[in-house]
Amino acid sequence: MDFGLNKEQQDIVAAAKEFALGEFPDRAQEFDRNETFDQDIWRKACELGFVGIFIPEEYEGAGYGFLEHCLITEEFWAVDPGIGQAILSCTFGSELLMLFGTEGQKQTILPKLVAGEAIIATAITEPDAGSDPTGAATTAVKDGDSWVINGSKIFATNGNLADYMMIFCLTDADNPSRHHRHSFILVPTEAKGYESNKLYGKMGIRASDTAELSLSDLRVPLENLVGKEGEGFHELMAFFNRTRLHVCAQGVGLAKAALEESIRHTRGRHQFGAPLASFQNTQFKLAEMATGIRASRNLYYEAASELDRGNIDHALISMAKWYAGENAVRCADAAVQMHGGYGYIDEYKVQRLYRDAKILEIYEGSKEMEKIIIAGTLVR
Ligand SMILES: Cc1cc2nc3c(=O)[nH]c(=O)nc-3n(C[C@H](O)[C@H](O)[C@H](O)COP(=O)(O)OP(=O)(O)OC[C@H]3O[C@@H](n4cnc5c(N)ncnc54)[C@H](O)[C@@H]3O)c2cc1C
Repeated sequence: MDFGLNKEQQDIVAAAKEFALGEFPDRAQEFDRNETFDQDIWRKACELGFVGIFIPEEYEGAGYGFLEHCLITEEFWAVDPGIGQAILSCTFGSELLMLFGTEGQKQTILPKLVAGEAIIATAITEPDAGSDPTGAATTAVKDGDSWVINGSKIFATNGNLADYMMIFCLTDADNPSRHHRHSFILVPTEAKGYESNKLYGKMGIRASDTAELSLSDLRVPLENLVGKEGEGFHELMAFFNRTRLHVCAQGVGLAKAALEESIRHTRGRHQFGAPLASFQNTQFKLAEMATGIRASRNLYYEAASELDRGNIDHALISMAKWYAGENAVRCADAAVQMHGGYGYIDEYKVQRLYRDAKILEIYEGSKEMEKIIIAGTLVR
Protein backbone atom coordinates (compact mmCIF):
# COMPACT_ATOMS: atom_id res chain seq x y z
CA MET A 1 0.00 0.00 0.00
CA ASP A 2 1.31 3.45 -0.92
CA PHE A 3 1.23 5.86 2.02
CA GLY A 4 2.73 8.77 0.07
CA LEU A 5 0.56 11.88 -0.02
CA ASN A 6 -0.08 13.47 -3.39
CA LYS A 7 0.76 17.14 -4.09
CA GLU A 8 -2.75 18.35 -3.22
CA GLN A 9 -2.72 16.50 0.08
CA GLN A 10 0.73 17.87 0.89
CA ASP A 11 -0.58 21.37 0.19
CA ILE A 12 -3.53 20.77 2.54
CA VAL A 13 -1.12 19.67 5.28
CA ALA A 14 1.09 22.72 4.76
CA ALA A 15 -1.88 25.12 4.74
CA ALA A 16 -3.43 23.56 7.87
CA LYS A 17 -0.11 23.78 9.69
CA GLU A 18 0.41 27.40 8.67
CA PHE A 19 -3.09 28.37 9.77
CA ALA A 20 -2.80 26.61 13.13
CA LEU A 21 0.64 28.06 13.86
CA GLY A 22 -0.65 31.51 12.97
CA GLU A 23 -3.84 31.40 15.01
CA PHE A 24 -3.56 28.96 17.93
CA PRO A 25 -0.39 29.43 20.02
CA ASP A 26 -1.15 32.91 21.36
CA ARG A 27 -4.62 31.91 22.59
CA ALA A 28 -4.20 28.27 23.63
CA GLN A 29 -3.29 28.85 27.26
CA GLU A 30 -6.06 31.42 27.74
CA PHE A 31 -8.74 29.10 26.34
CA ASP A 32 -7.44 26.21 28.40
CA ARG A 33 -7.38 28.18 31.63
CA ASN A 34 -10.75 29.87 31.14
CA GLU A 35 -12.57 27.05 29.33
CA THR A 36 -13.49 29.46 26.55
CA PHE A 37 -13.01 29.76 22.82
CA ASP A 38 -13.13 32.56 20.27
CA GLN A 39 -15.47 31.44 17.49
CA ASP A 40 -13.89 33.89 15.07
CA ILE A 41 -11.07 31.34 14.75
CA TRP A 42 -13.61 28.68 13.69
CA ARG A 43 -15.12 31.14 11.18
CA LYS A 44 -11.67 31.86 9.73
CA ALA A 45 -11.00 28.13 9.46
CA CYS A 46 -14.30 27.78 7.57
CA GLU A 47 -13.44 30.64 5.22
CA LEU A 48 -10.17 28.90 4.39
CA GLY A 49 -11.93 25.61 3.70
CA PHE A 50 -10.61 23.54 6.61
CA VAL A 51 -14.02 22.68 8.07
CA GLY A 52 -16.07 19.93 6.42
CA ILE A 53 -13.50 19.31 3.68
CA PHE A 54 -15.10 15.87 3.20
CA ILE A 55 -18.53 17.35 2.40
CA PRO A 56 -19.40 16.82 -1.29
CA GLU A 57 -19.24 19.72 -3.75
CA GLU A 58 -23.00 19.59 -4.40
CA TYR A 59 -23.41 20.76 -0.79
CA GLU A 60 -20.77 23.48 -1.10
CA GLY A 61 -17.99 21.33 0.37
CA ALA A 62 -14.60 20.74 -1.16
CA GLY A 63 -15.47 17.14 -1.94
CA TYR A 64 -12.29 15.63 -0.55
CA GLY A 65 -12.26 12.51 1.60
CA PHE A 66 -11.96 11.60 5.26
CA LEU A 67 -8.22 11.20 4.76
CA GLU A 68 -7.91 14.92 4.00
CA HIS A 69 -10.02 15.75 7.07
CA CYS A 70 -7.68 13.57 9.13
CA LEU A 71 -4.64 15.36 7.71
CA ILE A 72 -6.06 18.71 8.85
CA THR A 73 -6.98 17.22 12.21
CA GLU A 74 -3.44 15.97 12.75
CA GLU A 75 -1.96 19.41 12.03
CA PHE A 76 -4.48 21.31 14.16
CA TRP A 77 -4.06 18.95 17.12
CA ALA A 78 -0.28 19.16 16.85
CA VAL A 79 -0.50 22.88 17.55
CA ASP A 80 -3.29 22.74 20.12
CA PRO A 81 -5.73 19.88 20.77
CA GLY A 82 -8.35 22.04 22.50
CA ILE A 83 -8.59 24.55 19.66
CA GLY A 84 -8.35 21.78 17.08
CA GLN A 85 -11.32 20.09 18.69
CA ALA A 86 -13.29 23.33 19.08
CA ILE A 87 -13.00 23.95 15.33
CA LEU A 88 -13.25 20.53 13.77
CA SER A 89 -15.97 19.12 16.02
CA CYS A 90 -18.40 21.62 14.47
CA THR A 91 -19.30 19.07 11.78
CA PHE A 92 -19.77 16.13 14.19
CA GLY A 93 -23.01 14.68 12.86
CA SER A 94 -22.63 15.75 9.23
CA GLU A 95 -21.36 12.24 8.53
CA LEU A 96 -24.77 10.87 9.61
CA LEU A 97 -26.52 13.34 7.36
CA MET A 98 -24.29 12.47 4.41
CA LEU A 99 -24.92 8.77 4.91
CA PHE A 100 -28.59 8.71 5.87
CA GLY A 101 -30.12 12.19 5.57
CA THR A 102 -32.80 13.14 3.07
CA GLU A 103 -31.86 15.39 0.17
CA GLY A 104 -33.72 18.24 1.88
CA GLN A 105 -31.83 17.76 5.17
CA LYS A 106 -28.51 17.71 3.36
CA GLN A 107 -29.32 20.78 1.23
CA THR A 108 -30.47 22.74 4.27
CA ILE A 109 -27.63 21.97 6.64
CA LEU A 110 -24.40 20.85 4.96
CA PRO A 111 -23.65 24.12 3.10
CA LYS A 112 -24.09 26.09 6.34
CA LEU A 113 -21.54 23.89 8.12
CA VAL A 114 -18.95 24.53 5.44
CA ALA A 115 -19.65 28.28 5.41
CA GLY A 116 -19.32 28.65 9.18
CA GLU A 117 -22.97 29.59 9.47
CA ALA A 118 -24.03 26.63 11.60
CA ILE A 119 -22.72 23.93 13.91
CA ILE A 120 -24.01 20.37 14.10
CA ALA A 121 -23.51 18.03 17.05
CA THR A 122 -24.56 14.54 18.08
CA ALA A 123 -25.91 13.38 21.44
CA ILE A 124 -25.87 9.68 22.11
CA THR A 125 -24.48 9.31 25.63
CA GLU A 126 -26.79 9.45 28.63
CA PRO A 127 -26.12 9.35 32.35
CA ASP A 128 -26.92 5.60 32.35
CA ALA A 129 -25.89 4.70 28.80
CA GLY A 130 -22.31 5.25 27.68
CA SER A 131 -20.35 2.33 26.27
CA ASP A 132 -23.64 0.54 25.66
CA PRO A 133 -25.70 2.97 23.56
CA THR A 134 -28.51 0.42 23.28
CA GLY A 135 -29.35 1.42 26.85
CA ALA A 136 -30.25 4.98 25.75
CA ALA A 137 -33.62 5.82 27.31
CA THR A 138 -34.41 9.23 25.77
CA THR A 139 -37.72 8.61 24.04
CA ALA A 140 -39.13 9.94 20.80
CA VAL A 141 -42.85 9.22 20.47
CA LYS A 142 -45.05 9.97 17.45
CA ASP A 143 -47.87 12.38 18.10
CA GLY A 144 -49.80 13.44 14.99
CA ASP A 145 -47.23 14.84 12.56
CA SER A 146 -44.54 15.29 15.25
CA TRP A 147 -41.97 13.43 17.26
CA VAL A 148 -42.10 14.33 20.94
CA ILE A 149 -38.72 13.86 22.64
CA ASN A 150 -38.13 13.48 26.37
CA GLY A 151 -34.98 12.56 28.24
CA SER A 152 -31.48 13.70 29.03
CA LYS A 153 -28.08 13.45 27.42
CA ILE A 154 -24.64 14.02 28.84
CA PHE A 155 -21.20 15.00 27.54
CA ALA A 156 -22.54 16.37 24.25
CA THR A 157 -19.74 18.20 22.45
CA ASN A 158 -20.98 21.65 21.37
CA GLY A 159 -24.29 21.10 23.15
CA ASN A 160 -24.39 24.81 24.02
CA LEU A 161 -23.23 26.07 20.64
CA ALA A 162 -24.81 23.79 18.08
CA ASP A 163 -27.63 24.91 15.80
CA TYR A 164 -28.57 21.33 15.03
CA MET A 165 -28.37 18.30 17.32
CA MET A 166 -28.62 14.71 16.14
CA ILE A 167 -30.33 12.94 19.00
CA PHE A 168 -30.18 9.19 19.48
CA CYS A 169 -33.66 8.27 20.66
CA LEU A 170 -35.54 5.19 21.80
CA THR A 171 -38.38 4.81 19.29
CA ASP A 172 -39.34 1.14 19.66
CA ALA A 173 -38.71 0.05 23.24
CA ASP A 174 -40.54 -3.26 22.77
CA ASN A 175 -38.53 -4.47 19.81
CA PRO A 176 -37.05 -7.86 20.78
CA SER A 177 -33.69 -6.81 19.32
CA ARG A 178 -31.75 -4.16 21.28
CA HIS A 179 -30.21 -3.18 17.96
CA HIS A 180 -33.53 -2.12 16.43
CA ARG A 181 -34.95 0.08 19.15
CA HIS A 182 -33.36 3.45 18.39
CA SER A 183 -33.49 6.14 15.72
CA PHE A 184 -31.69 9.41 15.04
CA ILE A 185 -33.82 12.54 15.10
CA LEU A 186 -32.55 15.90 13.94
CA VAL A 187 -33.37 18.72 16.33
CA PRO A 188 -32.88 22.44 15.78
CA THR A 189 -31.59 23.57 19.16
CA GLU A 190 -33.83 26.63 19.11
CA ALA A 191 -36.80 24.26 19.52
CA LYS A 192 -38.84 24.67 22.67
CA GLY A 193 -37.89 21.98 25.20
CA TYR A 194 -34.17 21.95 24.36
CA GLU A 195 -32.06 23.00 27.33
CA SER A 196 -28.29 22.78 27.65
CA ASN A 197 -25.90 23.34 30.54
CA LYS A 198 -22.19 23.77 30.04
CA LEU A 199 -20.05 21.23 31.87
CA TYR A 200 -17.09 22.96 33.49
CA GLY A 201 -13.96 21.41 34.92
CA LYS A 202 -12.89 19.05 32.13
CA MET A 203 -9.39 17.63 32.48
CA GLY A 204 -8.41 18.61 28.95
CA ILE A 205 -9.56 19.94 25.55
CA ARG A 206 -11.03 22.77 27.60
CA ALA A 207 -11.52 25.09 24.62
CA SER A 208 -14.13 22.62 23.39
CA ASP A 209 -17.68 23.02 24.65
CA THR A 210 -19.31 20.09 26.45
CA ALA A 211 -22.90 20.05 27.72
CA GLU A 212 -25.59 18.10 29.44
CA LEU A 213 -28.95 18.29 27.72
CA SER A 214 -32.43 18.20 29.07
CA LEU A 215 -35.11 17.44 26.48
CA SER A 216 -38.60 18.08 27.61
CA ASP A 217 -41.65 17.61 25.36
CA LEU A 218 -39.48 18.75 22.48
CA ARG A 219 -41.51 18.61 19.29
CA VAL A 220 -40.12 18.29 15.77
CA PRO A 221 -41.85 17.22 12.52
CA LEU A 222 -41.85 13.51 11.65
CA GLU A 223 -39.64 14.26 8.64
CA ASN A 224 -36.80 15.11 11.07
CA LEU A 225 -36.12 11.40 11.37
CA VAL A 226 -32.65 10.76 9.93
CA GLY A 227 -32.29 7.43 8.18
CA LYS A 228 -34.62 4.56 8.95
CA GLU A 229 -36.77 4.20 12.01
CA GLY A 230 -35.30 1.53 14.29
CA GLU A 231 -31.95 1.49 12.50
CA GLY A 232 -30.25 4.08 14.72
CA PHE A 233 -27.80 1.62 16.25
CA HIS A 234 -26.50 0.46 12.87
CA GLU A 235 -26.37 4.04 11.63
CA LEU A 236 -24.37 4.94 14.76
CA MET A 237 -21.83 2.21 13.99
CA ALA A 238 -21.46 3.54 10.43
CA PHE A 239 -21.01 7.06 11.84
CA PHE A 240 -18.30 5.85 14.23
CA ASN A 241 -16.49 4.19 11.33
CA ARG A 242 -15.84 7.73 10.09
CA THR A 243 -15.41 9.68 13.30
CA ARG A 244 -13.12 7.18 15.03
CA LEU A 245 -10.57 7.82 12.33
CA HIS A 246 -10.68 11.49 13.22
CA VAL A 247 -9.82 10.50 16.79
CA CYS A 248 -6.87 8.51 15.50
CA ALA A 249 -5.59 11.59 13.65
CA GLN A 250 -6.11 13.65 16.82
CA GLY A 251 -3.85 11.21 18.65
CA VAL A 252 -1.17 11.39 15.98
CA GLY A 253 -1.15 15.19 16.10
CA LEU A 254 -0.96 15.28 19.87
CA ALA A 255 1.82 12.68 20.02
CA LYS A 256 3.76 14.55 17.34
CA ALA A 257 3.57 17.71 19.44
CA ALA A 258 4.76 15.79 22.51
CA LEU A 259 7.74 14.48 20.55
CA GLU A 260 8.66 17.89 19.12
CA GLU A 261 8.48 19.54 22.54
CA SER A 262 10.58 16.75 24.03
CA ILE A 263 13.30 17.03 21.39
CA ARG A 264 13.45 20.80 21.83
CA HIS A 265 13.62 20.60 25.62
CA THR A 266 16.10 17.74 25.93
CA ARG A 267 18.45 19.34 23.43
CA GLY A 268 18.46 22.62 25.31
CA ARG A 269 18.55 21.46 28.92
CA HIS A 270 21.83 20.30 30.43
CA GLN A 271 22.35 18.16 33.51
CA PHE A 272 25.56 16.46 34.63
CA GLY A 273 27.34 18.65 32.08
CA ALA A 274 25.52 17.22 29.08
CA PRO A 275 22.22 17.80 27.24
CA LEU A 276 19.38 15.53 28.37
CA ALA A 277 19.13 14.42 24.75
CA SER A 278 22.56 12.82 24.99
CA PHE A 279 21.39 10.29 27.61
CA GLN A 280 20.42 6.92 26.23
CA ASN A 281 17.29 6.85 28.38
CA THR A 282 16.07 10.02 26.66
CA GLN A 283 16.98 8.75 23.21
CA PHE A 284 15.13 5.47 23.77
CA LYS A 285 12.01 7.36 24.80
CA LEU A 286 12.23 9.60 21.72
CA ALA A 287 12.73 6.56 19.51
CA GLU A 288 9.70 4.83 21.03
CA MET A 289 7.58 7.94 20.54
CA ALA A 290 8.62 8.37 16.91
CA THR A 291 7.85 4.71 16.19
CA GLY A 292 4.43 4.87 17.84
CA ILE A 293 3.57 8.00 15.88
CA ARG A 294 4.60 6.44 12.58
CA ALA A 295 2.62 3.28 13.31
CA SER A 296 -0.48 5.28 14.34
CA ARG A 297 -0.28 7.49 11.28
CA ASN A 298 0.09 4.52 8.97
CA LEU A 299 -3.02 3.00 10.55
CA TYR A 300 -5.17 6.03 9.80
CA TYR A 301 -3.66 6.58 6.34
CA GLU A 302 -4.59 3.03 5.45
CA ALA A 303 -8.00 2.97 7.13
CA ALA A 304 -9.04 6.41 5.81
CA SER A 305 -7.79 5.68 2.28
CA GLU A 306 -9.78 2.45 2.26
CA LEU A 307 -12.84 4.23 3.63
CA ASP A 308 -12.59 6.89 0.93
CA ARG A 309 -12.48 4.09 -1.63
CA GLY A 310 -15.66 2.66 -0.11
CA ASN A 311 -14.02 -0.23 1.76
CA ILE A 312 -14.99 -0.25 5.40
CA ASP A 313 -12.84 -2.35 7.69
CA HIS A 314 -14.27 -1.67 11.13
CA ALA A 315 -11.64 -3.74 12.92
CA LEU A 316 -8.88 -1.72 11.25
CA ILE A 317 -10.65 1.51 12.21
CA SER A 318 -10.91 0.33 15.82
CA MET A 319 -7.22 -0.65 15.79
CA ALA A 320 -6.35 2.84 14.55
CA LYS A 321 -8.48 4.58 17.19
CA TRP A 322 -7.32 2.47 20.12
CA TYR A 323 -3.66 2.38 19.17
CA ALA A 324 -3.31 6.09 18.40
CA GLY A 325 -5.16 7.11 21.56
CA GLU A 326 -3.06 4.93 23.80
CA ASN A 327 0.11 5.98 22.01
CA ALA A 328 -0.77 9.66 22.49
CA VAL A 329 -1.31 9.14 26.22
CA ARG A 330 2.04 7.32 26.42
CA CYS A 331 3.85 10.04 24.45
CA ALA A 332 2.37 12.86 26.53
CA ASP A 333 3.41 11.05 29.71
CA ALA A 334 6.95 10.56 28.39
CA ALA A 335 7.12 14.22 27.35
CA VAL A 336 6.19 15.45 30.83
CA GLN A 337 8.73 13.07 32.35
CA MET A 338 11.48 14.39 30.11
CA HIS A 339 10.57 17.95 31.07
CA GLY A 340 10.90 17.14 34.77
CA GLY A 341 9.32 19.79 37.00
CA TYR A 342 8.85 22.18 34.09
CA GLY A 343 6.49 19.70 32.51
CA TYR A 344 4.21 20.04 35.51
CA ILE A 345 3.68 23.78 35.03
CA ASP A 346 1.02 25.14 32.70
CA GLU A 347 3.43 27.48 30.94
CA TYR A 348 4.80 24.38 29.24
CA LYS A 349 2.73 22.91 26.43
CA VAL A 350 3.42 19.31 27.46
CA GLN A 351 1.42 19.81 30.64
CA ARG A 352 -1.65 20.63 28.53
CA LEU A 353 -0.94 17.76 26.12
CA TYR A 354 -0.83 15.37 29.08
CA ARG A 355 -4.33 16.43 30.14
CA ASP A 356 -5.68 16.68 26.59
CA ALA A 357 -4.52 13.19 25.67
CA LYS A 358 -6.67 11.14 28.02
CA ILE A 359 -9.96 11.81 26.24
CA LEU A 360 -8.63 9.92 23.22
CA GLU A 361 -8.94 6.67 25.15
CA ILE A 362 -12.48 7.46 26.24
CA TYR A 363 -14.72 9.20 23.71
CA GLU A 364 -16.27 7.70 20.60
CA GLY A 365 -15.79 4.26 22.07
CA SER A 366 -13.35 3.67 24.89
CA LYS A 367 -10.24 1.70 24.06
CA GLU A 368 -11.85 -1.33 25.70
CA MET A 369 -14.79 -1.09 23.28
CA GLU A 370 -12.35 -0.91 20.38
CA LYS A 371 -10.62 -4.06 21.57
CA ILE A 372 -13.98 -5.82 21.87
CA ILE A 373 -14.71 -4.90 18.22
CA ILE A 374 -11.28 -6.08 17.05
CA ALA A 375 -11.52 -9.32 19.01
CA GLY A 376 -15.03 -9.87 17.67
CA THR A 377 -13.57 -10.20 14.18
CA LEU A 378 -10.96 -12.69 15.41
CA VAL A 379 -13.03 -14.94 17.63
CA ARG A 380 -16.54 -15.28 16.31
C1 LIG B 1 -15.07 15.63 26.59
C2 LIG B 1 -16.08 14.62 26.17
C3 LIG B 1 -16.76 14.79 24.98
C4 LIG B 1 -17.75 13.87 24.60
N1 LIG B 1 -18.49 14.12 23.48
C5 LIG B 1 -19.58 13.36 23.24
C6 LIG B 1 -20.51 13.70 22.21
O1 LIG B 1 -20.34 14.68 21.50
N2 LIG B 1 -21.63 12.94 22.07
C7 LIG B 1 -21.87 11.84 22.84
O2 LIG B 1 -22.89 11.19 22.66
N3 LIG B 1 -21.00 11.47 23.82
C8 LIG B 1 -19.88 12.20 24.04
N4 LIG B 1 -19.01 11.87 25.04
C9 LIG B 1 -19.28 10.67 25.85
C10 LIG B 1 -18.28 9.53 25.60
O3 LIG B 1 -18.44 9.00 24.32
C11 LIG B 1 -18.49 8.48 26.73
O4 LIG B 1 -18.00 9.07 27.92
C12 LIG B 1 -17.82 7.17 26.43
O5 LIG B 1 -18.48 6.50 25.40
C13 LIG B 1 -17.78 6.25 27.66
O6 LIG B 1 -19.04 6.14 28.25
P1 LIG B 1 -19.21 6.37 29.83
O7 LIG B 1 -18.54 7.66 30.15
O8 LIG B 1 -20.63 6.23 30.18
O9 LIG B 1 -18.35 5.23 30.49
P2 LIG B 1 -18.84 3.72 30.84
O10 LIG B 1 -19.59 3.16 29.70
O11 LIG B 1 -19.48 3.74 32.18
O12 LIG B 1 -17.44 2.98 30.94
C14 LIG B 1 -16.54 3.15 32.03
C15 LIG B 1 -15.36 2.22 31.82
O13 LIG B 1 -15.82 0.87 31.81
C16 LIG B 1 -15.35 0.23 30.63
N5 LIG B 1 -16.36 -0.74 30.17
C17 LIG B 1 -17.68 -0.54 29.97
N6 LIG B 1 -18.25 -1.66 29.51
C18 LIG B 1 -17.27 -2.58 29.38
C19 LIG B 1 -17.22 -3.93 28.92
N7 LIG B 1 -18.29 -4.57 28.46
N8 LIG B 1 -16.02 -4.56 28.92
C20 LIG B 1 -14.90 -3.94 29.35
N9 LIG B 1 -14.88 -2.66 29.79
C21 LIG B 1 -16.05 -2.00 29.80
C22 LIG B 1 -15.18 1.35 29.61
O14 LIG B 1 -14.27 0.97 28.60
C23 LIG B 1 -14.65 2.46 30.49
O15 LIG B 1 -13.27 2.33 30.65
C24 LIG B 1 -18.00 12.74 25.42
C25 LIG B 1 -17.27 12.56 26.60
C26 LIG B 1 -16.35 13.48 26.99
C27 LIG B 1 -15.66 13.30 28.31
